[in-house]
Amino acid sequence: MISSPLAHGRDRVLSAVDALADEAVAFTSELVRFPTINPPGEAYDECARFIGRRLSTSGFDVEYIDAHGRPEHSTRHPRVNVIGRRRGQHERPCVHLNGHFDVVPAGAGWTRDPFGGEVADGRIHGRGTCDMKAGIAAAVYAAEAIRRAGVSLAGTVEISGTVDEESGGFAGMALLCERGLLARDRTDYVIIPEPLNVDRICVGHRGVYWFEVTTRGRIGHGSMPFLGVSAIEHMGCVLDRFRRDLMPRLASRTTAVPVVPEGARHPTLNINSIFGGQPVDGIQTPCVADLCRAVFDRRFLLEEGFDATRAEIVELLERTARETPDFQFELRDLMTVHPVRTPQGSPLIRALADGVRQVLGREASHVASPGTYDHKHVARIAGVEHCVAYGPGILDLAHQPDEWCGVDDLVNATKVIALAVLDLAGGA
Ligand SMILES: [Zn+2]
Repeated sequence: MISSPLAHGRDRVLSAVDALADEAVAFTSELVRFPTINPPGEAYDECARFIGRRLSTSGFDVEYIDAHGRPEHSTRHPRVNVIGRRRGQHERPCVHLNGHFDVVPAGAGWTRDPFGGEVADGRIHGRGTCDMKAGIAAAVYAAEAIRRAGVSLAGTVEISGTVDEESGGFAGMALLCERGLLARDRTDYVIIPEPLNVDRICVGHRGVYWFEVTTRGRIGHGSMPFLGVSAIEHMGCVLDRFRRDLMPRLASRTTAVPVVPEGARHPTLNINSIFGGQPVDGIQTPCVADLCRAVFDRRFLLEEGFDATRAEIVELLERTARETPDFQFELRDLMTVHPVRTPQGSPLIRALADGVRQVLGREASHVASPGTYDHKHVARIAGVEHCVAYGPGILDLAHQPDEWCGVDDLVNATKVIALAVLDLAGGA
């Protein structure tokens, strides 16, 4: 059998990843030692520059983009993103690999230093190892392996390290998209190495609608509640309406998008908070509550769409108002994220699935996220439809105490990403 030059290039790149494994692990540990905790957004500048220096060494042109003009960008907590660009023989195709380097607070329950970056028992330990500093390492070392293997690409590879994904990504990935650094007319494919388990390709996420309902009553003496109108009783009517009329409808709807876990294939409603009457810590007065406020988190399906989702809430509140004497309410929209889905048959999905087959010897499964991640900005602001999340680490460990990422996972995901880049950016 005669092997093609392309197959030969792939083999050289896979060997290069093996040779670079220790370096990739050490790089991940170093990243973990930057306590990039969000909120409030610690050590962003230092971490961005550390990634930038690594990218320069790998032949990237590096640029730092700060979020000047945004309220969360301050002298004390500057929002600094880094983007590196390594052009091949042509500008296109351009494959962009993006990872957020902010992490959630460590929280309690750790048996190791969350920011020690310890390596033991084939695992890298610490906050942000799987979500998603190992993913950044996988992106950086996939590109480095291609370079060390001496393979020249027809197209361009870009790698960005961004901030604030854990709080919506507005000073991070959204900013890069708004400034045109990722755009339909320059970016072809985007891979976000979030921890989704190394044999799963994430093709999108559900939508989010956060809203606040306020009910207003009339204050009265607590000994004669019949002379007032209780806003809390009225919020009870709202909750009852949602439970009786909305929840069964949500349970009966199922998306065709492969959302995991299974339960999230239906739309959901969570009551995030509820407050009514006098302040909890204040001195209680003998009064009927004239105000009650609740915040709801409605996750909606691609098939439902935002307009119908909101209209359904309005309809249920209006019906409650018609059926309940003295019922007064206000509805306030707090946040909307539209659902996204990578087109079926995208060359990006195929390239990663081929990589998973070659590296792990099994078929990749397609999943979608019950929550959201930076995919939304890539799809909706930059208009780049070929975007997926694929990276090392086990999803369930994200945000947990004693978070870790397996060294094997890191190496395997690096290989899969390297093969996908070769495929998409034309490695010769
Ligand atoms: Zn993440």
